[in-house]
Amino acid sequence: RHKEALAARSADDLRSPICVILGHVDTGKTKLLDKIRQTNVQGGEAGGITQQIGATFFPMSAINEKTKKLRENLTKQVEYKLPGLLIIDTPGHESFSNLRSRGSSLCNIAVLVVDIMHGLEPQTIESLQLLKDRKTPFVVALNKIDRLFDWQVYPNYPVQESLKLQKKHVIKEFNDRVEKTMLAFSEQGLNSCLYYNNKNFSKYVSLIPTSAHTGEGVPDILHLLVELSQSRMTDSLMYLSEIECTVLEVKVIEGLGTTLDIILSNGILKEGDKIVVCGTNGPISTVVRALLTPQPMRELRVKGEYVKHKEVKAALGVKLVASDLENAIAGSRLMVIGPDDDEEEIMDAVMEDLTGLMENVEKK
Ligand code: GDP
Repeated sequence: RHKEALAARSADDLRSPICVILGHVDTGKTKLLDKIRQTNVQGGEAGGITQQIGATFFPMSAINEKTKKLRENLTKQVEYKLPGLLIIDTPGHESFSNLRSRGSSLCNIAVLVVDIMHGLEPQTIESLQLLKDRKTPFVVALNKIDRLFDWQVYPNYPVQESLKLQKKHVIKEFNDRVEKTMLAFSEQGLNSCLYYNNKNFSKYVSLIPTSAHTGEGVPDILHLLVELSQSRMTDSLMYLSEIECTVLEVKVIEGLGTTLDIILSNGILKEGDKIVVCGTNGPISTVVRALLTPQPMRELRVKGEYVKHKEVKAALGVKLVASDLENAIAGSRLMVIGPDDDEEEIMDAVMEDLTGLMENVEKK
């Protein structure tokens, strides 16, 4: 069945890549996510950006808007082909390391945040190890450039435009710090360079100077995430007819009972689907009773906290309601049992992940 699903894919119909933000504490992960979420559009209109369960969806229209100035200055024009970008809301590497079920593809691309004033720190190195272990492509946000002495702020500018306007001594300090960071990365066995000097993305990690306070470099992050995803990852971004899904969190919600916050990475999940997830007392087999997402922002006044969906299509974050979820484990893979499937086989496959997940549960 997996082979058939693979054969039916098409490079013309890609899903949104899923992105996580990780790095050392206080480097600005949360702030950067906030800044990316902000829109230039006035009057509360979010430009189509929607808050999902555990994730935020940026439609290509919003990314287009935010990268307009950057793309005007590019010598080589790039056509954006993806529907958008799904960014996981909980920065930090817990959300990443706890979700280690082997079958899951929760994360397609990552942003590793480094404080330009501090360079590589202990959790930066841990994050690097995780990214290496999972072979996740990533870019580095070299954050807090506004803290360089005498930095002049040009809000939301592409970083090269802003750098051009800085004083000589600021550029010197900037270059010194970038140099130091590159050296520290090479001590970790990684080649790196400023992203706009990068001629070989498979050999060099891209450094994107950013400020989560001023928004400088933020267009650059979005542009690079889209460009790298669509030029180098089309294979993992083609729609699959079978689903790839991960349990982010297990939550008790008043009126709904125990629910699962899930990230659907690929495929379509429907109300009434028979599913299997990992449980502390063995595999849990149940039926999807409801699939919920938050109300879009402008419809907040509409009654009811959630919008109900008959079916949902990847990639997105959803709240799943079903019975018997009390012992479900966060990080578990979620699989659907089709009419022709061997339930036992699927249960075994899901439970294969348990060893790794339990280690994490015990550590908590
Ligand atoms: P996290 O722990 O990585 O999520 O870091 P936060 O986003 O909470 O940021 C930690 C601190 O650094 C906060 O006080 C932020 O206001 C500050 N900060 C984050 N990004 C920037 C930046 O680009 N420039 C400056 N000057 N401060 C920043």
